[in-house]
Amino acid sequence: GKGLAVFTSGGDSQGMNAAVRAVVRMGIYLGCKVFFIKEGYQGMLDGGENIVEATWSSVSSIIHKGGTVIGSARCLEFRERSGRLKAAKNLVDRGITNLVVIGGDGSLTGANLFRSEWSSLLEELVRTGQITKDQQTKYAHLHIAGMVGSIDNDFCGTDMTIGTDSALHRIIEAIDAIVSTAYSHQRTFIMEVMGRHCGYLAIVTALTSEADYVFVPEMPPPRDWPTKLCDKLEQERSTGQRLNIIIVAEGAIDRDGQPITAEKVREVVVKNLQQDTRITVLGHVQRGGNPSAFDRVLGCRMGAEAVMALMEATPDTESCVVSLDGNQAVRLPLMECVERTKAVTKAMENKDWENAVQLRGKS
Ligand code: ADP
Repeated sequence: GKGLAVFTSGGDSQGMNAAVRAVVRMGIYLGCKVFFIKEGYQGMLDGGENIVEATWSSVSSIIHKGGTVIGSARCLEFRERSGRLKAAKNLVDRGITNLVVIGGDGSLTGANLFRSEWSSLLEELVRTGQITKDQQTKYAHLHIAGMVGSIDNDFCGTDMTIGTDSALHRIIEAIDAIVSTAYSHQRTFIMEVMGRHCGYLAIVTALTSEADYVFVPEMPPPRDWPTKLCDKLEQERSTGQRLNIIIVAEGAIDRDGQPITAEKVREVVVKNLQQDTRITVLGHVQRGGNPSAFDRVLGCRMGAEAVMALMEATPDTESCVVSLDGNQAVRLPLMECVERTKAVTKAMENKDWENAVQLRGKS
């Protein structure tokens, strides 16, 4: 059978295990020899115990676990050709020519680069006597399928990334808990949620918690936001609301590109309204805990689709990323999606908010 390996890379997220499980089982079902690569690219270039064959039962009892049981890591060495050469040798030794990568845009970019270099890496391995000519011919083509695991929902091309829904569950639980105490004391509370370049978590949180104000990276508020914010808070209180909720995305900025932090917002509220104001930074709680039903199903469907894409690939099939389009798992060209995702970040850096929002929305 064909050699196929799955690994998780970059930041972890809930639902990655469901995806790993689906890849392994669909792979075995279709007659592949399936491997885990542990600790992301680091494991790929270290080889040894980090690349192990997976069995049907080795992915039992993981679907409900958060994070990724096969480990994830950042790996500087994979950014260098010398690192990728070691990785190629480890894959060829095991007959692996199909890779499923579950990670963010960095991990997918690395995978795509690896694929584009594959033939020259094999050439060098033959030249230096590390693999045989026969191996070079037999394993001439590397196929890649990607999936995005990220709680931020920060990837262009997919309606949802794996982990976002679970993160929202965590956030909402926390807000509901805080609201009951804030209500008793007539407090204003400011919640910072994750999302360095993407306000998705913040927006959905604001909608579902009846927040009074939300700050996101893609759409900085008008310059007089302190006045607008205070007017809004006062107005709500004057109509009988006992508490105020303000949501701040981690990457929120103003029109000069300066960060709008929870602390900055607190200062504005305290100075102008003298309200009892508390900050909660949720941090890694958002990534923790068990995946939601939605993320489990999403991981399953995407994992199965990724394996099918690999099995249907020909030498000149483009690398794909499996995405969610409405209720459908679809395959999109990997690099196009990565590039659009990077273009959003670039537009934000250039303070071209309109373009950022447009690029983000287009799917
Ligand atoms: P994410 O995948 O969540 O965006 P990173 O950007 O940290 O996270 O990427 C994860 C890993 O992918 C890096 O540690 C590195 O090993 C690999 N990687 C990222 N970008 C590249 C690149 N341009 N070339 C080669 N490898 C890369």
